[in-house]
Amino acid sequence: MYLKTAVPFSHDLLKQVIAPGDTVIDATVGNGSDTVFLATLVEKKGHVYGFDIQAEAIKQTQEKLLLTGLTEQVTLVHAGHETFNQHVPETKEISAAIFNLGYLPKSDKSVITKPDTTLSAVTQMLERLRKAGLLIIVVYYGHDGGAVEKDAVLAFCESLDQTQYNVLQYGFINQKNAPPFVLAIEKK
Ligand code: SAM
Repeated sequence: MYLKTAVPFSHDLLKQVIAPGDTVIDATVGNGSDTVFLATLVEKKGHVYGFDIQAEAIKQTQEKLLLTGLTEQVTLVHAGHETFNQHVPETKEISAAIFNLGYLPKSDKSVITKPDTTLSAVTQMLERLRKAGLLIIVVYYGHDGGAVEKDAVLAFCESLDQTQYNVLQYGFINQKNAPPFVLAIEKK
């Protein structure tokens, strides 16, 4: 298949923008697969800050990082991504950030990302994004509460000034069951 689904498409974009030595953000660590991917791209001289509100997600990810030998270049924060400015030193410019909205698969489906905190975090991270950096949001919205967050995030992205940001939406439009789609914000 030539047309990639949301997650592989988001990884292709991240690969293009992230270089060894960069500082990047996994805003929703979950089972840690994005954290491992980012840590591999930034290498030991770079750094990944990963956020999640669930202890289980942080624990699982810590274990994955140990197994893959990537702990050195990752700081896992057991707190919401909306606390970004408190945890990532203000001298640090970031080259990329990724959000996977929704709930942690095989876990408590009532613990979901929420519009206010998601947009607070996105706003803080956009201020710190370097020129030509990318902030990616993979929008899962088939669950209870998902549609409200999708609408809020889309409205926010549509309102971004086109002289400062390019915003792309990517997703399949003929699939049933609310397939996830990607929003990619590039700073000009
Ligand atoms: N990227 C993950 C992966 O590769 O497995 C999937 C993430 S999952 C769709 C969404 C995650 O966001 C859940 O683990 C949930 O606990 C977390 N979450 C919910 N609200 C959050 C918040 N305010 N800040 C950080 N993480 C949050």
